[in-house]
Amino acid sequence: MDSDHMAPSTGAHSLVGGTASQPKKVAYFYDSDVGNYAYVAGHPMKPHRIRMAHSLIMNYGLYTKMEIYRAKPASKYEMTQFHTDEYIDFLHKVTPDNMDSFAKEQSKYNVGDDCPVFDGLFEFCGISAGGTMEGAARLNRGKCDVAVNWAGGLHHAKKSEASGFCYVNDIVLGIIELLRYKQRVLYIDIDVHHGDGVEEAFYTTDRVMTVSFHKYGEYFPGTGELRDIGVGAGKNYSVNFPLRDGIDDEAYRAMFEPTIEAVMTHYGPEAIVLQCGGDSLSGDRLGCFNLSMAGHANCVKYVKSFGVPVIVLGGGGYTMRNVARTWAYETGELVGEQMSKQLPFNDYYEYFAPDYELDVRPSNMENANSHDYLHKIKSTVIDNIRRTGRPSVEAFTNIPNNPLTRDDEDSDIDDDEDADNNPDVRSTERRQDRRIANPADYDDDSEDDEYRASMGIRDQPGRDKSRNITAHVNPDAAKPDALDKLAGLDDLNDDSALSTRQTSPAGSRTPAVADEEDGDVDMDEAEPAEPAEPAETAAAPEAGSTDSHSPSNNLTPPESPTGAGVPAPDVEMEGTDEAAKADVAEEKQAEEKQQGEAERDSENAKGEVRTEVAKDS
Ligand SMILES: [Zn+2]
Repeated sequence: MDSDHMAPSTGAHSLVGGTASQPKKVAYFYDSDVGNYAYVAGHPMKPHRIRMAHSLIMNYGLYTKMEIYRAKPASKYEMTQFHTDEYIDFLHKVTPDNMDSFAKEQSKYNVGDDCPVFDGLFEFCGISAGGTMEGAARLNRGKCDVAVNWAGGLHHAKKSEASGFCYVNDIVLGIIELLRYKQRVLYIDIDVHHGDGVEEAFYTTDRVMTVSFHKYGEYFPGTGELRDIGVGAGKNYSVNFPLRDGIDDEAYRAMFEPTIEAVMTHYGPEAIVLQCGGDSLSGDRLGCFNLSMAGHANCVKYVKSFGVPVIVLGGGGYTMRNVARTWAYETGELVGEQMSKQLPFNDYYEYFAPDYELDVRPSNMENANSHDYLHKIKSTVIDNIRRTGRPSVEAFTNIPNNPLTRDDEDSDIDDDEDADNNPDVRSTERRQDRRIANPADYDDDSEDDEYRASMGIRDQPGRDKSRNITAHVNPDAAKPDALDKLAGLDDLNDDSALSTRQTSPAGSRTPAVADEEDGDVDMDEAEPAEPAEPAETAAAPEAGSTDSHSPSNNLTPPESPTGAGVPAPDVEMEGTDEAAKADVAEEKQAEEKQQGEAERDSENAKGEVRTEVAKDS
């Protein structure tokens, strides 16, 4: 089916950023369920922003320039390519109803405050990770040049710990997938927060270079110093660019482009994963940078200009309307579309008042990054990058537990030949991969104050890592999306439409109108089931005509056994949290009997996954 899509990338390498507009085959991953999940009332992380971005993307007509896929959600087994079995088991079984009996585990796995238990948590993680893994698999097979998954980019999740709103690290899982075919993978992170989970996973290997640009100093997660460069074989293959508040477009570009250019020249990655966290935008609720939409998107444009296969992911971003604008604009950038400044009408039009424009403007906040400071850091970073190289085959075969060295030919052949028919191909045995992270190696915390001081890096008060991302709220954040409430109420009127579509209790027990503090209403679950998104109509035939990893998933939304035909407990959208919980408690209990371990054994999951889910129970 896909033979006509086999043409290899024709992208020419160019070290001059921003010029490449040669046609690229773009695979875009979107699961229309994703916007239905809600963390808890008032939580700044709102999966709904992904649906908003998607609505813009579709209404701008970008679907004509890319292939749209609904990925098979990552299975438990796939998640354990990086995470521990115990941790994934916990994520799979914990629910808002039974969480009280897991107090110990919650503490152990840092599930609680920032990373709450919510309905459909595991499924949400599966969607996020599935898109990134499938993007990696398509890239590996040369079936696309660019893969986009705005539901991915959850860079803080650790091997056995949730962190910073992230539970399952889709990025690490995607990179592990890429490493099966690619010798060198570059990870770039432009989220305002340090990409700690990804860095940690690959801190000891030269097969992945991680480059993170982030706010550093009295800020979550507290890691990402300039001097943190990797250890052992991975020395100099972790790059950290610590920044201060208020960095603007010009300053960002002046350090980003030369840094990435040096990496491309000296490291020569075969694939790139770009995390586009939107909390580095001006006015973000939790961020502290001052990037405009264009300044943020310039990173995408620049990275794309090298013509190296790239996976583009989401990440943070807590002022929804601006995140949606930017990710839509960046999607347009990737498909080479000139987008009108005037937003097209879309499902969430009211959110974009008063200007209804495709833009995020910078503020007049001060840029605390002096020219000298940036120059100093940049020089050091580039000096370190120059010490890297393209690891020789001998070099990586010497890395213990290297995923590639144990990759048997058979599985590669399977991957190549059976991929179209076998949605589980990502599950080939790679158990050793999870050991790619070697925590003992990077616990090197010896102080080097002089060194850091010479670079202008202040000690962070109490170097204990903050476990709470929400401890840092941007006092200069843009005003809450005042119209969110309006939109939420509009959706309440439509709530009958959504009930049949809930594939799970996902988000259904979070009150829609509950966030009084900031007026930033959680309205995810109040969304019409299948908002009149061009996406869905466009996606189905498109996806069906291609050989996605999981063709069946493209057309049939996964339905949980109890989902079909059972009206979602809409009542809670009108009531308080407590009332809502009481109202749905009974129904929920009944559901759980049927759900249990088989809850994700959907129509779409094929043999291996079924077996695996059953076995895990
Ligand atoms: Zn972030």
